[in-house]
Amino acid sequence: MTTIGIIPGDGIGPEITEAAIQVLRAAAPGLTYEYLPVGHVAAAGSGDPLPDQVMDRLRELGVVLKAPLEAPKGTGRIVKLRPDGHRVYPSINNAVRRELELYANVRPVHAVPGVGRPGAELDLMLVREVSEGIYSGIEHRIGDVAQAIKIATRPAWERIARFSFELARERGYDRVLLGHKANVLNLTDGLELEVVRTIAADYPDVELQDMMVDALGQAIVRGDVPRSVVLLDNQYGDILSDVAAAVIGSVGLGPGANYGADVAVFEACHGAAPDIAGTGKANPVGLILSGAMLLRHLGDHRAAEAVEAAVRLVLGERRALTPDLGGSATTGDVTAQVVAALDEVDEAVAVRA
Ligand code: ATP
Repeated sequence: MTTIGIIPGDGIGPEITEAAIQVLRAAAPGLTYEYLPVGHVAAAGSGDPLPDQVMDRLRELGVVLKAPLEAPKGTGRIVKLRPDGHRVYPSINNAVRRELELYANVRPVHAVPGVGRPGAELDLMLVREVSEGIYSGIEHRIGDVAQAIKIATRPAWERIARFSFELARERGYDRVLLGHKANVLNLTDGLELEVVRTIAADYPDVELQDMMVDALGQAIVRGDVPRSVVLLDNQYGDILSDVAAAVIGSVGLGPGANYGADVAVFEACHGAAPDIAGTGKANPVGLILSGAMLLRHLGDHRAAEAVEAAVRLVLGERRALTPDLGGSATTGDVTAQVVAALDEVDEAVAVRA
């Protein structure tokens, strides 16, 4: 029996975690779940937001469903003490990814007809490099002067470029589109462009395009980016995945997965949304669809497709929409509708399988 590590998160985290597990239990009854405290909850007990025991257990389990952890503005730095010194991370979410050596954050953006901006028919797989970039946490401040250093290395970009081309092949996309700003960040983004072009030569069946990230942002908002795997650095990927999710309806719709060599962590692309915690307004779809990605990672393609189809049915037919999508349904209503829709879609998915 496979056990999934659960990080219930802060803010709306526990509510959407409950929702996602309810759907997973209905779609794939064979899984068990182990709750593991990370962040504030862990720090309240041990003083360490990333306790060694918990991090080791997450590594051992290898598959984790994680809700967002709250990253306070300006004060969210995390210092992890280690026998060989210490590491500083800019936020708790960044710290979890880097402690678990995750490097590829995949955020699918699939428009559901009838939801979101009319005409915004995006079908993208955003790949965000999460091991380095300007979110490396190398910041200094002396008085009124502050500085952040952007890191781009050849090995990390070879790895993420290969990952993106492989993903394109696996999921049937014939284009990788790199968003960058190499006309301004000549050396850092310039290196990324150079490395991705080199790796592209090994994938003649997948076209490489590159675009200035600001022009790409505009195209995403207009909804006219062709079907692509979109490769972005840590910060551009953070920003544009929220933008893309909003274009197709709401930031609450965006699922995500973080992959490393040994561990995979599935999490929605939005934050902890403390402003709506406990109100029942949280849209659980981002984490429910992250659960579908988790099922696909475990090889249960049929259950993954069933969850995705059930979500499409509930949203497309407007059976239950949370306030961020213009409806008045609660987190629980949406979850119950998705679970009910699983019975309807199961047959259709079985026929296709
Ligand atoms: P982070 O930097 O950790 O991503 P953030 O500061 O960008 O966090 P979010 O927590 O994502 O902010 O919230 C941004 C806005 O989107 C808030 O108004 C929040 O209520 C809303 N929001 C985020 N997630 C959801 C959701 N699942 N359902 C409904 N609204 C949401």
